[in-house]
Parts: sequence; C-alpha cells; structure tokens
Amino acid sequence: MSSSEPLIAPVSPRATDQLAVRPLGLTDVELTRGFWADWQRLNRDVTIPHALAWLERDGSVDNLRDVAAGTPAAAHRGMWFSDSDVYKTLEGLAWDLGRAPSASLSSAADALIDVVRRAQGPDGYVNSYIQAGHGQRWDHMAWSHELYCFGHLIQAAVAHHRATGSADLLAVAVRAADCALREFGDSRRKDTDGHPVVEMALVELYRETGNPSYLDLAQQFIDVRGYRVLDPRGHFDSAYYQDETPVRQQTTVVGHAVRALYLLCGVVDVYLETGEQALLDSALRQWESMMATKMYLNGAVGSRFEGESFGDEYELPQDLVYGETCATIASIMFSWRLLLATGESRFADAIERALFNLVAASTSVERNAFFYNNPAHRRVARPAASPNVRPQRAEAPGTRPPWFQCACCPPNIIRTIASLGGYLATYADNGVQIHQYAPATVATGNGIRLVMETEYPVEGTVDVTVAETDGTAWTLSLRVPSWCRGATVSVNGTATPAVTGERGYLGITRQWHAGDRVTLVMPMPVRITVPHPAVDAVRGAVAIERGPIVYCLESPDQPEGVDLNRVELLLDEPLVEQRRELLGSTVPVVQVEALARDDSAWAGSGWATLGEEPVTVGRRVRLTAIPYHLWANRGPSVMRIFVPARRGQ
Ligand SMILES: [Zn+2]
Repeated sequence: MSSSEPLIAPVSPRATDQLAVRPLGLTDVELTRGFWADWQRLNRDVTIPHALAWLERDGSVDNLRDVAAGTPAAAHRGMWFSDSDVYKTLEGLAWDLGRAPSASLSSAADALIDVVRRAQGPDGYVNSYIQAGHGQRWDHMAWSHELYCFGHLIQAAVAHHRATGSADLLAVAVRAADCALREFGDSRRKDTDGHPVVEMALVELYRETGNPSYLDLAQQFIDVRGYRVLDPRGHFDSAYYQDETPVRQQTTVVGHAVRALYLLCGVVDVYLETGEQALLDSALRQWESMMATKMYLNGAVGSRFEGESFGDEYELPQDLVYGETCATIASIMFSWRLLLATGESRFADAIERALFNLVAASTSVERNAFFYNNPAHRRVARPAASPNVRPQRAEAPGTRPPWFQCACCPPNIIRTIASLGGYLATYADNGVQIHQYAPATVATGNGIRLVMETEYPVEGTVDVTVAETDGTAWTLSLRVPSWCRGATVSVNGTATPAVTGERGYLGITRQWHAGDRVTLVMPMPVRITVPHPAVDAVRGAVAIERGPIVYCLESPDQPEGVDLNRVELLLDEPLVEQRRELLGSTVPVVQVEALARDDSAWAGSGWATLGEEPVTVGRRVRLTAIPYHLWANRGPSVMRIFVPARRGQ
C-alpha cells in the first residue's frame, strides 16, 4: 500500500490505492477573486467574528469555561451538544488560517483551544453538559451526542494541526479519542452514537497520527450500526438513526438527513483506507438513489420536517421542504469523497449544484444571517427575523436569522467556505483535473502550476493558463457539467478536437509549455427544467436554470398585484436574459411571459366542482426570475422555484 503526506484539506487520505484522483490543499489552490473568493473574504471578516460573538452570547463557550474553572453551572445554557458549535467554528477558523495567516484569528483560536484544554478531564473526557451534572457519561448513546461532540473536536483538531502545525488542540483530541477507545474499542461495547460524525473524524485522526486504533474504532462504529443498538425514542425510530439496516445492505438514504450523510462520509473514508468494496458499493447505491429520487433541484436534501429526515422516493414537496443547510453541506462532503474514489464528474456536478444554490442561499449577501431550513416555495411573506432572536430550527422566518438555538448550520457554512479551495481541483499521475470553475491558482506540488481566469457562473468561458510545468506530457482534464451541451475547447486559440470525454471530463494530453492557454467555452443559455413525472408535487410545473444557477420568482421583482401562487409560465414565449444590478453585483435575470390567473370563478366552490373545471382566465404579465440564492435579501417575500406552465396559449 502506498501512502501520502497529510495536506491542508479536510480529507487527506493516507492510503492512495483507492484514490482515482488525489486532493490538493488549501495552500495549493488559491481562490483569487470572484464569487467564492469574495465570500471567503467575508467569511473571515464578517461571519467568523459574528459566530464568535454569538458563541459567547449564547453560552456555548461559557459552558466549557465553567467546567474549566471547576464550577460547572447546573444551568448549562443552550443545546446539550453546544460544545460541537464551538468545535465546528474552531475548525472553520483553522481552515481559514490554513488558507492565509491572520494574527487575530490565530489568537481567537488559541483562546478557544485553551478553554477546551482546561475543560477536558484527566482521562480525556470532555462534554460540558455531562460534566455539569446532567446525566451519566456514555449512558444514553442514542441521544447524548457525546461522540458527536468528540467527532467535531477531532475534526477541529486535525484542521488546526494541518493548518498551523500546532499540536495544542490535536493533543486534546487524541486524549478524547483515547478515552473513547478505552470505553468502546476492541468491541467492548456494541453501541455507538445516535448522531454520526465521529466515524469520519476518527479516520481523519488516523490519517493525521498514523495510529490504526482510530481507524479500527471508526470501522467498529460503522459495523455495529443497523442492528437496532440505539433505543428508539418517540417517533425517532431505528431508521431515523440509520440503525435499522446494516450499512452494507442499505439501498437508499433514510432517516435524519445530516446523520445519514455524515455516516456515509465515514463509510467512504473507511473504504478509502481499507479498500473494502462492499462499503463503496453501498455508498454509491445510496448516493445514486438520493440524487435520482430524494434531492431537490436547488440541492436541498431531507424533505421532511418530522425528524429532519429524508422522505420516500420522489417525495419532494416544495412548500414543505425542510432542506437543512447542514444536510446539503454533508452531501458535498459525501460527494467529494466519492469523487476522490472514482474520479467521476457526476460528483463534482452535485457539489456545484449544492454550492451555487442551496449553500449560497443559506446565507445572506452580507454573510451574517442564515437559513437553517431552506424554503423552495414560500406562499406567504412571513415576518422578518429579528437580529436579536435565535429562533427554533424548524422555522424559516421571512428573512435569515443571525443565529439559532440549535446553531449547527452557521459554523458548518464557515468551515465549508474556508476550505472551499480544496474542492476545486485534484491531480493524478497522468495530470490535473479541474472540477469547479473560479478565478484561482492551482499548484500540484510536482512542478505544475495553473492560473484559471473566468467570470463563471455569469459567463461560461474558462481560461486555464499553464504558468509552470515540468516538461513531461500530461493531461489537463476539464469537467463538462451535466447541464452543458456543446462545450468546446481550444489550446492557444486553436480548436482542439483530440480530446477524450472520459468520466465526464474533456482531457487534453500534450507536452505543455509555460504560457500555453486552454479555453473552455460552455454555452450557457437560459433553460427550462422539467421534473421527473413521479414528483407529484411539481407535475405540470417547470423551473428556470442557467448554467449551474437555479432561478426563482420572488415577489419584489414582479408587476404590481401579481400573486406568484396564481401564475402559469407561457412556454411558447421566449425566455429573455438581461443583466441587472442586484444586491451589489451584476447578475443575469430572466424575463418570462406568464398568465396571472384570476381564480375568482373557483371562489366558494370548495371541492364541489363535479369535475367541471372553470375556464382559466387571467392577464398576461411579464415576470422576472432571479438567482434563487439571492432570495429573501430584500425583506420578507413570496417566492417559488417551480412554476406551473402551459403551452399553446
Ligand atoms: Zn444544521
């Protein structure tokens, strides 16, 4: 088995035998400008300070401080797993430090690490809720989130070690992991945590330390699941916990969406280190089922509020979607691992859809307010969120709240945006693969350096210039997104027919020279997307997309008096693209002809129409669709992605 050195990235496999392509670190890939670089800057300047302030305000840091001081307050504040919010924010801080140094971020991280270190017990156990006297440790694994918190601690520690070289937090995480090993290791116990994440964290700790006990424990936690080892509680049944069916037999994603997808990240991580094919096969089956039948157009997953869970196949209600931000982020983490294992573009396609739509929509354009669950159809403008109130998670107000009582999503956004460079490109013995398009520099460490320039996703042209190369022949692979038809590629201005379409990438193999420039042109017309006929919720409706961007109709952009719940797109009319200044940037918007229905003939009929449908009457109007990710930034609104449509009008 061959192995590689850890790099500054969230997934740094030790074994290379299972890798179709190898990841690059945050210092290898730099986002230089554009949508994602701007967000990374705001993530550092706005979101991280915002999160640190809220973690102080909501008691999450104080919970740990009280334990550190030896005076744990019985009145533990917030959720019983609030430690995880501190750890996940720390992880985001660490990746951001790995991306670019910052004295203020560094001292903020050190201060938090000091609190965690002092809160940790002499045997490595740390959990501010249990240590404050709420229950016995390891006593209620279905619900306690103790290993969940350990998992996020470990992820933060690995990130901090990779990014800064400091072992301060890694030492804390190793003591915690060893504490878990003494309790659970070598099959001493047959149960596991109700909320997965420790599995992928332990694999990463193995990668970072080389201690195979952590990999073994990750595998054990995966193996024991599915045999009803967790106590069901109310409507949280075994399927909710992914504890109804052993993972190797599972055919589709079930239960709590974040839990299911975090578990699957651990499953692929164990495969990447051990090569057990049954684990990869299960992960691929479940991914394919999710993508075909359980994911929304905007990248949302988990259709049910009940249990924050996946629904049945094609159960994709638009006005009732849950779509937790964390679930889509977990889907990105899952897809990325499968991309490393297979090198196939469909996983990068899924990451692109999730990033540009749901993840981008989860956060306000100022990047200091967030959706926990993400509506796809808002029938009535709800009251705006208060800047000082942390709502319950299961409500999306009219605008994004600043924080949540269960604050899992904002720190997840922070760590994702801080580490985004790691998802852009990979390399293999035969060359470099570009998966996502953004202005960036990419260095592979073996003498190849590329400069990518593009206005993507506003424009579909991408220039990749070879800045440095080692003189050998190699292949530059450029992803052709699944939405794209008619992509062309040229080298130094000459069209290049000699390309392969392997795994969904255009590959150009040649002896490269510094200064060579490859231009990929992806036609990006506005297009109509038709849903699968089994999705009853949107049968007869269509959506508008352009490139990777999903569009929506939002009330502020529509003519006076138009009710977006009573419109039908007229598909025989052309879709007209325009550029418009919107919320601080120039974006393509789409004008569409529609019928604004007058449904007054239905008034009072209730259900008693006797099968006689009143003639549809109404007026023609011109509606304007905007990128979905920009909605709810101009106050409370009515919004929808899928819209009923008709032809021959
Ligand atoms: Zn969340």
